[in-house]
Amino acid sequence: MKLVSTAGKAPASTLADAVLRGLAPDGGLYVPDSLTPLAPEAVRALRRHGFPDVALAVARHLLSEDLAPDALERLVVSAFDFPVPVVPLGPRTFVLELFHGPTLAFKDFGARFMARLLAALHVSQDRPLTVLVATSGDTGSAVGHAFLGVPHTRVVILYPEGKVSPTQERQFSTLGGNVEAIAVQGAFDDCQRLAKAALADAELSGSLRLTSANSINVGRLVAQIVYYFFAWADLPDPDREVIVSVPSGNFGNLTAGLMAKRMGLPVTAFIAATNANDVVPAYLQSGRFRPRPSAATISSAMDVGNPSNVARMQALYDGDLDRLRRDVTGSAHGDDDTRTCIAEVERRFGYIMDPHSAVGYLGLQGALAERPNAIGVCLATAHPAKFREIVEPVIGRAVPMPERLAAVLTRQPSVRRIPVDLEKLKAVLKG
Ligand SMILES: *Cc1c(COP(=O)(O)O)cnc(C)c1O
Repeated sequence: MKLVSTAGKAPASTLADAVLRGLAPDGGLYVPDSLTPLAPEAVRALRRHGFPDVALAVARHLLSEDLAPDALERLVVSAFDFPVPVVPLGPRTFVLELFHGPTLAFKDFGARFMARLLAALHVSQDRPLTVLVATSGDTGSAVGHAFLGVPHTRVVILYPEGKVSPTQERQFSTLGGNVEAIAVQGAFDDCQRLAKAALADAELSGSLRLTSANSINVGRLVAQIVYYFFAWADLPDPDREVIVSVPSGNFGNLTAGLMAKRMGLPVTAFIAATNANDVVPAYLQSGRFRPRPSAATISSAMDVGNPSNVARMQALYDGDLDRLRRDVTGSAHGDDDTRTCIAEVERRFGYIMDPHSAVGYLGLQGALAERPNAIGVCLATAHPAKFREIVEPVIGRAVPMPERLAAVLTRQPSVRRIPVDLEKLKAVLKG
């Protein structure tokens, strides 16, 4: 896989280099130089296969130049060792449950794949590696968990103080070992900006081997392409028009879906579903991308005001907004509608959704209403127990608590606090 920078001023890179660097040297994000489509027969052949088979077929297509066949197979099988159910809710709606990994959110896919990719590419052997990650809640624990106990590797998690759910905070601040949590006195966008600034800092890169595990790291996106193919292949009637709705914040997940489409995924359209932080739906409508400070919502992992993957979406479409609009429709939903949706889905189907997944569900219902012949998939990105503080009052009953989450809640957290200040972060990283 050859990668180029969205800023256009860095040399083309191998996957190993791009994963290790995180950010391209010109400050841009790495995107695949080209994505070769799978043959239509190869896509059809994925139908009704289990997740590991589909993941392996797609990963082979993408990464055969980067990894030996046996290493690739080991990586895929061990990274994705949890179930990925497609649950029907009514005749035209299917929920792709991406929250059965160890930290109960879809971020486990990218984090586990990336951790193993770094190990397989032997990039953390000589100098210790510091993995810096800004989190709006779920990335921190997924990355921390994926790298926990990995030799010669230190994970530093930046999160906005008071703006993640208490359960999420517990999950990433109780890992201990080689995983440190830092509460930043600001918003997620401040954390993301600090992480990018640290990666671009010449002094730091001279003294530390630093990489990012955010969705600015292309290694995570590659892992997310596979489940779009799986969802399609598992539908009872995939020859119908298929729409996919993606609850979005930083837009890494949706970008992976667009890459899958470029690789021949037979999906007609994607819904970019957001909460009140609707800069991307507004961009699709007006043609102007106007980042702004994020507002706090109940789907806090999507409270992003300056989504970094917009640069990748633009690069994938050569900056042609009309082409992008043909593949992606924006759909924004406030907290009241999200709560109503959680209550209604529980009442009608007995199915409990977390607030992020509910935003995706709302986006899909709007699109299905406009396309009477289509069926749709919405991505469920987190287990409802991670957001039980919000979900339980809405549905009026307890959310069943998975055992691995209950265990985390009894451990002692360990957190350092810093203001939004690069020098303070650098001191922590060097210390
Ligand atoms: C991170 C996250 C999102 C947003 O995903 P992006 O790839 O940043 O758009 C949605 N839901 C949950 C639960 C998340 O943790």
